[in-house]
Amino acid sequence: SQDEEKLNEYMDELEFLAYTAGATVRKRFSQKMAKPNPKTFIGTGKMEEIQAYVKAHDIDTVIFDDELSPAQQRNIEKALEAKIIDRTYLILDIFAQRAQTSYARTQVELAQYEYLLPRLVGLWTHLERQKGGIGMRGPGETEIETDRRIVRDRITLLKAKLIKIDKQMATQRGNRGQLVRVALVGYTNVGKSTLMNVVSKSDVFAENKLFATLDTTVRKVVVGNLPFLLTDTVGFIRKLPTQLVESFKSTLDEVRESDLLLHVVDISHESFEDHIASVNKILDEIDAIDKPTIMVFNKIDKYQPEDYDEADLMVERTSVHYSLEEWKNTWMSRTGDDVIFISAIEKENMEQFRKKVYDKVREIHVSRFPYNA
Ligand code: GDP
Repeated sequence: SQDEEKLNEYMDELEFLAYTAGATVRKRFSQKMAKPNPKTFIGTGKMEEIQAYVKAHDIDTVIFDDELSPAQQRNIEKALEAKIIDRTYLILDIFAQRAQTSYARTQVELAQYEYLLPRLVGLWTHLERQKGGIGMRGPGETEIETDRRIVRDRITLLKAKLIKIDKQMATQRGNRGQLVRVALVGYTNVGKSTLMNVVSKSDVFAENKLFATLDTTVRKVVVGNLPFLLTDTVGFIRKLPTQLVESFKSTLDEVRESDLLLHVVDISHESFEDHIASVNKILDEIDAIDKPTIMVFNKIDKYQPEDYDEADLMVERTSVHYSLEEWKNTWMSRTGDDVIFISAIEKENMEQFRKKVYDKVREIHVSRFPYNA
């Protein structure tokens, strides 16, 4: 059914996140409930089922696809005698692993402390900390037993530090002069870094894991003699922890202050429509939804149309190769005023892509300097 399909997609994504964080997933459990149990999130029967599995297979970590309340987390932990990680903490943990600059590290640390503050009583305390793994990086490791007061002081300090860096970054952005600013936005793993590399011929880290990009990279790019600034931003994701939306304010400022958005979509992903919606929701939250936008449908080399025959096992699922004209006739081409279909990896339709970006950047440039045009 459709519900099952959605559930599978969500579980696939959670498993991918877990893998990105360094975990190996042994089994998935799910339960259909009208409302989560306020005390234990899942029901008694399901808890027993998981309990038995955890015991039998010596499982050390159980991950939930939602944010758990501090009490739920404690209760489940008691029942399962395993480390309980919720979606929010899993995402924070990935960010903690991957933060490169001191700015990103400060942001993640702040978000982790804010997450931990209401959970300071007895979380994970009876577990061996030496085991390491998810949830044991960052503040969880050493300071969990310390008193809330210290954590609060730390939060205040980190906030002050961020305000200072925010100011520096704002100045840096201001110093970039009058160049048109273009920002790559999109769901995580859609190919933003890859596209950045192709366009700027640089070497931005790209790998098939979620959130490979944490820190924004700004590159000066020249297309057809027209220079502009291109920013690669952090990948957006469904249910992005609110602590992160807040603490990544500066990263998102790059988006808010840009003149043009390149909204990159992984067209080969079965739920790319949901991804577009998640990205738009965040753009809306930061007041960037009305910016001029080019929809960039990437990974056309892997695209398979919906209407293949499920029952026909003899027909191998292969990707289609539409011409530009054929792409123009798909519904996707009506998702915005400016839409382009590319493969950043195979470098397909890159000329059209460059031209579209050039035209838009020039338009913005001309509207800004009407006399120099
Ligand atoms: P980001 O998280 O949006 O920055 O995505 P990345 O640039 O890191 O790419 C995520 C994964 O998708 C990597 O494994 C890339 O090699 C792959 N990828 C990027 N562009 C394409 C493409 O056009 N076609 C295919 N098949 N894979 C791509």
